[in-house]
Amino acid sequence: MRFPALLLLLVASFAAHPSVDHEQLVNVDNTPGSWLTHGRNYAEDRQSPLTQITPDNVGELGLTWYFDTGTGRGLEASPLVIDGVIYSTGSWSRVFANNAVSGEPIWQYDPQVPRAWGVNACCDVVNRGVAAWGDNIYLGTLDGRLVALNRRNGKVVWTSLTIDPARPYTITGAPRIIKGNVIIGNGGAEYGVRGYVSAYDARDGALRWRFYTVPGNPENPFESAAMEMAAKTWSGDLWWKVGGGGTVWDSMAYDVDLDLLYIGVGNGAPWNRHVRSPGGGDNLFLSSIVALRPETGEYVWHYQTTPGDSWDYTATQHMILADLVIDGALTKVLMQAPKNGFFYVLDRASGKLISAEKYAPATWASHVDLSTGRPVETENADHSIEVRMTKPAAFGGHNWQPMAFNQTTGLVYIPAMETAGRYSTDHDFTYQSGGHWNTGQSQEGGAFPANRHLVNAVIKRLFKGHLLAWDPVKQTEVWRVAHEAMWNGGVLTTAANLVFQGTGDGRLVAYRADSGEQLWDTHTLTGVVAPPISYQINGEQYVAVMAGWGGAPTLLFDLPGSTAGANGRLLVYKLGGELKLPDTVEANVIPTPPPRHGSEESIATGQVLYNTHCGRCHGIGLVGSGLLPDLRDMGHDMSGNTPEVFKAIVLQGAYREMGMVSFADVMSEADADAVYDYIVDAAHARWEEQQSSPVWSEVEAWIMDWVGALIAQFI
Ligand code: CA
Repeated sequence: MRFPALLLLLVASFAAHPSVDHEQLVNVDNTPGSWLTHGRNYAEDRQSPLTQITPDNVGELGLTWYFDTGTGRGLEASPLVIDGVIYSTGSWSRVFANNAVSGEPIWQYDPQVPRAWGVNACCDVVNRGVAAWGDNIYLGTLDGRLVALNRRNGKVVWTSLTIDPARPYTITGAPRIIKGNVIIGNGGAEYGVRGYVSAYDARDGALRWRFYTVPGNPENPFESAAMEMAAKTWSGDLWWKVGGGGTVWDSMAYDVDLDLLYIGVGNGAPWNRHVRSPGGGDNLFLSSIVALRPETGEYVWHYQTTPGDSWDYTATQHMILADLVIDGALTKVLMQAPKNGFFYVLDRASGKLISAEKYAPATWASHVDLSTGRPVETENADHSIEVRMTKPAAFGGHNWQPMAFNQTTGLVYIPAMETAGRYSTDHDFTYQSGGHWNTGQSQEGGAFPANRHLVNAVIKRLFKGHLLAWDPVKQTEVWRVAHEAMWNGGVLTTAANLVFQGTGDGRLVAYRADSGEQLWDTHTLTGVVAPPISYQINGEQYVAVMAGWGGAPTLLFDLPGSTAGANGRLLVYKLGGELKLPDTVEANVIPTPPPRHGSEESIATGQVLYNTHCGRCHGIGLVGSGLLPDLRDMGHDMSGNTPEVFKAIVLQGAYREMGMVSFADVMSEADADAVYDYIVDAAHARWEEQQSSPVWSEVEAWIMDWVGALIAQFI
């Protein structure tokens, strides 16, 4: 009699937890209370159809539960909500399953990513979420594994290694699942890898297909006709040794009727086209949107946003599919605001450009020629000889933070930025394998000064952030809300005329979607970069967001308004919620620096070495956000604080288990001594200058000195 009882239990269990299938993912509006796939639907529009929370009552929104993820590193996930359970991910690719109503933890999964792999992550050890199919959820780990987990208990069903572990690949993006194929890409183009996207069988993890985005070693046969076409647009013999780049590290979308999978392709490796492809060429499929057949990976069409990209202008930014009336005709379009500053509307059946206009300041191109579909570059685009200050910077006019499209207002809401970056050419470029950046940029003379006030003032001048409402048909701005920080959260819109966005200065804010009027905000106690989602259970609508400050700019700079290092949490709100967050922000204590050490020459050498090898994690000019240790605190929390201890860490890897690997492959003992001298000097400078305030003329003088008077007109 035990067998039928077990069978009954199984049947009951399946009834309560129906499998996620193609039918459900194609028709997500039939289950509006759930959030079944990354961008809510295959069109990735991030518009929730839920209407309980309205402009009239959003003021009553309050916290109903929160969950500590146990980290102060960046949180970027879009949680999924299926059958009353919310599935989120945190730093180091950890997965959390919680009861979506009460917050009660159900299970957690830690893939135990080796901390030393963190050096391969350009932009923090983040993860953007899981995908669901059948009775499993699917996770890409920072060290390149694709893992299927049983949705009910978090047990591993299968694992597939998607990368060559000898190369510095990382996965931070969320998988998408189309007809049983789990689609996943990876990152690593700053270091030097060859980009590709792969499909794995959701049932057993077998590789179904792989599409390379850039050509490999010319001596080997082409993997596809698309690679044969792409190879004609590359020159020289360096790119394929470095890898060429073109990583598919974030955005995808799927058109069910056209049966097309769209992938966003990243920047070149190295960044600098004069180094990467010295004979010129468009370097396909860098900075492109590529349409593929989801069952075979076969190439269908591409559109390249930045031919011959030289600025880290990835086209990996969020893509939204919508049907817009253009010149009187209902048109199936794909919309993207990539880093390069132009908002693109493409015909997604053919890949033909419909329109492109600047949504952010951009000095590298004057406009996009609609007859050729190509950008018209300015003199500012050429940094082969002169150093250029170019807008946008590598952070882009818009980065990975998802946009949202509201079908009623017809507007796209962009977490937009105004940025400017310094571009130069390293004429003596040599490729360094392993966890080192290979951008082909010269570091000489480009260092930020180690003065917190000055750096913060410069950053505030050069980098700004705002929420931008954009009309994609007219290609014009409709409204904007300026933010305190440049780096802010992704966006959610709802059918009730609402837009939600978290901010870098630690708030979650609700606006009217049609006018931008602020209706409500609440403090999150840490900067928010993730996009909110919404779900409804037992007649109550919830808004959820991962709150945790992180990402590339937070490692490089101490951005205004940020509260780095605070507890990263999943925050969930509903009407009438009354919970309060515990305030745990600590006072900033500047420790006494160790004794001065080294000559002026050694300090100057150390500065260049630091900005080349250390600044991207510990902060340019030694002024980071505190996400990773501020090295000027050496006298405070690193025992000994002598050159010997420093070298044990930097050269011998004493802190490897904490993620700080040895740099002995690129630094000699004398180099490490010089970096130590620079850090100690900067610690003293901070100690002495902590009472001073910024002098605006110094800021101006420094900017002028940095980029040269010739290009000051662009600032
Ligand atoms: Ca990049």
